[in-house]
Amino acid sequence: MDLDPALTATLREEAHGLFSETVALRRALHRWPELGNDLPVTREHVLGALEGLPLTVTQHSTTSGVAAVLEGGLPGPTVLLRGDMDALPLHEDTDLEFESSIEGAMHACGHDTHTAMLVGAAKLLSARRADIPGRVLFMFQPGEEGFGGAEFMLNEGLLDVPARPDGSDSPITGAYALHISSNLPSGWIATRGGSIMASADQMLITVTGRGGHASQPHQALDPIPIACEIVQALQTMVTRTIDVFDPTVVTVGRITAGTTNNVIPETAVIEGTIRAISERTRAKVRDGIRRVAEGVSAAHDAAVTIDFHDGYPVTVNHPGSADFALDVAGEVVGKHATVKLPHPIMGAEDFSYVLNRVPGAMLFLGGTAPDRNPANAAPNHSNRVVFDEGAMVNGIAVYGAMALRHLAGTAAT
Ligand SMILES: [Zn+2]
Ligand SMILES: [Zn+2]
Repeated sequence: MDLDPALTATLREEAHGLFSETVALRRALHRWPELGNDLPVTREHVLGALEGLPLTVTQHSTTSGVAAVLEGGLPGPTVLLRGDMDALPLHEDTDLEFESSIEGAMHACGHDTHTAMLVGAAKLLSARRADIPGRVLFMFQPGEEGFGGAEFMLNEGLLDVPARPDGSDSPITGAYALHISSNLPSGWIATRGGSIMASADQMLITVTGRGGHASQPHQALDPIPIACEIVQALQTMVTRTIDVFDPTVVTVGRITAGTTNNVIPETAVIEGTIRAISERTRAKVRDGIRRVAEGVSAAHDAAVTIDFHDGYPVTVNHPGSADFALDVAGEVVGKHATVKLPHPIMGAEDFSYVLNRVPGAMLFLGGTAPDRNPANAAPNHSNRVVFDEGAMVNGIAVYGAMALRHLAGTAAT
């Protein structure tokens, strides 16, 4: 069902009314970026901003995660909205008046804007509480940048929502997240059905030979050329065995071996990242890496160990949810400002864990600063990235509209 056009206009207006307090919160978070799963100051800001709203707030104990539930006035299911809260370990070089005051930490992925927008959405939806058919679960998660914050929150029972006060069930039927991007025009919304972000696993290959004198390699077993062969063979394995339409990226980012020019070391270590956009290819490429590393090492009589460290799984948008979200976004921000992405992005996201449990979608929100060009603006994770705060108005309105329309649609069926 469509939202009443008058309602979408009202949501935009209400989001606009929340702009200055959203900016103030975002800047406070930006000044004090925190890393990982323990974000005490950030959590205090969030709790302070939610104070006075009609929410049931749960502070998670394994992380700084916060789950807040808005109980609508009418029976219905629950919809989850996610905002992540953590920053990245790098020095900020933006010269913004509110730039990071913590050396070596920066909100370079825009999670400060996500947190502020989710607070804005909580305010906007709280004001409409009486008319909401169901519940909204606001997920403020830490540790997105490689610390598995979402999984910690799931393990702590995030999705175990109790029955409503009247005894009726309120299962979680949808989950949505926004992620700001400095390379998409400000306020635009982009997403796609199916895989939207890649899995990200790490590999660690250790080739063990025998150390010796560099002038007498025949009396040693040099692991360095063997490691080089493995690196080359991995690229051949990728291009010759993986379907180009279900791609993977295997990048060796680090090789460590040796101490000086005239010593043959005992070991050589290869470290790399593996990206895939389907679980099938994700498994297949691991098999290939194992085969190549073992085969090349065996050919040269060296020993090898291969370790994989599981990172985030593939982020898969439910096709129906992605179409729905893009539709809603079109009503809120205008069809011209919505984009159906032609392909996934090879970065990774731990909202994937939520989407593996609940159908839903992750959307990108354009946040290119007004004086920059989306095509060459400093990207997310850059020490110079700047996001347009004006985009947060659309973000709040889209969060709100997705929740309202999702609940209205599900409640009606
Ligand atoms: Zn990031
Ligand atoms: Zn991010």
